[in-house]
Amino acid sequence: MAGQHEYSFFGAVEQSFDKAAKFTTIDPGLLEQIKQCNSVYRMHFPVKIGDKIEVIKAYRVQHSHHKTPCKGGIRFSTAVNLDEVMALAALMTYKCAIVNVPFGGAKGGISIDPKKYTPYELEKITRRYTHELIKKNFIGPGTDVPAPDYGTGEREMAWILDTYTSMRPGEIDALGCVTGKPVTQGGVRGRREATGLGVYYGLREVCSMPDVMKKLGLTTGVEGKRVIVQGLGNVGYHAAKFFRQGGAKVIALAEYEGAIMNADGLDEDAVFQHRKKTGSILNFPGATNLAKSGDALELECDILIPAALENVIDGRNAPNIKAKIIGEAANGPLTPDADEVFIKKGILVVPDMYLNAGGVTVSYFEWLKNLSHVRYGRMEKRFTENMNSHILGQIEALTGKQVVERERDFILHGADEADLVYSGLEETMITATREIMEAWKANPAIPDMRTAAYVVAINKVGTSYAELGIFP
Ligand code: GLU
Repeated sequence: MAGQHEYSFFGAVEQSFDKAAKFTTIDPGLLEQIKQCNSVYRMHFPVKIGDKIEVIKAYRVQHSHHKTPCKGGIRFSTAVNLDEVMALAALMTYKCAIVNVPFGGAKGGISIDPKKYTPYELEKITRRYTHELIKKNFIGPGTDVPAPDYGTGEREMAWILDTYTSMRPGEIDALGCVTGKPVTQGGVRGRREATGLGVYYGLREVCSMPDVMKKLGLTTGVEGKRVIVQGLGNVGYHAAKFFRQGGAKVIALAEYEGAIMNADGLDEDAVFQHRKKTGSILNFPGATNLAKSGDALELECDILIPAALENVIDGRNAPNIKAKIIGEAANGPLTPDADEVFIKKGILVVPDMYLNAGGVTVSYFEWLKNLSHVRYGRMEKRFTENMNSHILGQIEALTGKQVVERERDFILHGADEADLVYSGLEETMITATREIMEAWKANPAIPDMRTAAYVVAINKVGTSYAELGIFP
């Protein structure tokens, strides 16, 4: 909930859904089924903190079972409530459908401020939450697979895994009960940066489309683009990093304590280290402080990337936004009111439910790795390298010429796990971007890219239900 008036995040997702549903041919009854959250589990459980008993409020919502397992992160935040978890679970269904990840959508949350607890206390809370999920069959490699989200990370996923495996001894696929784990605990290389990298791949693809860029008055390509990132958490940090490496300039970074700008570009890692050392993003050498975090959103730029929480751009501040493209790295950073403003202003909003799908895409790769019990690349890496070496040797013998050292290393290299994960993610994001853009072009009455993304998602989920034979 945000702003002075009651705001329903789930209501906003429903509104976007309805806006898109009329561009599909899915049966109205089926549309109603797709929209609903199938299973909602709200729980209270006691945890001893110091010498006091605290009652913890938590949730897990499974939005859709058209494909199983259900999938979605777990967030730790005081802002967690039923409306938010339902909205985020619904977004997961559409997100997975768009990127062809065969899961239903889910989301979980614990209504706590993780900063107020010691690691030991957080571990107790996480383990107890996992127990509750196990008891109600709301977790398991074939039923529902959590992952990190706002306020959680690899550490929490390892606790969840350990709790699950201790309760289910001998379950051969137990590693697949949660994703986003540390690599040493069955995680996959590339998962940590996956969401930020997916945001980069998605926006890079949009920027490579000459017709889209021409309409926005921009040149094609990422190089030289002025980017602003709001939120320096895992997603924002990595999005900033890949944009900088791709030749863009990150001209401003915002966190809740304030924002900084530098027209020549900021190095996200140096800013991150500065914040770690001083406790604030402000007073970064060479940068100008902005009084309010929200001020960064309103600066002149090419690409604005909100990468923190929902509902940061609404009808009130949307008219002040000067970006040409808004890339939603967070879930639900724009309200429907803001969408309307941007349609009128001709600002391209690249929607969350596909743009931040890199996380769940690589979670899917991690889950597959867990079920197959073998690291990606283990079987073929050496074989490929031997074969490449043989081919290169033959070419050099036949031509009498030597390939230069740098090229030689590149040609000989056999794909390892990180190579395969990156390539799978790149392919996924490029394909999804093109599919949405084609759906949009195919029907000019579709007002924006979000609606086009919903159309693609609803058609896929609807077809999947229909093919299951649930609906004639
Ligand atoms: N929490 C992430 C999201 O909102 C990742 C979910 C997952 O990997 O299952 O997409």
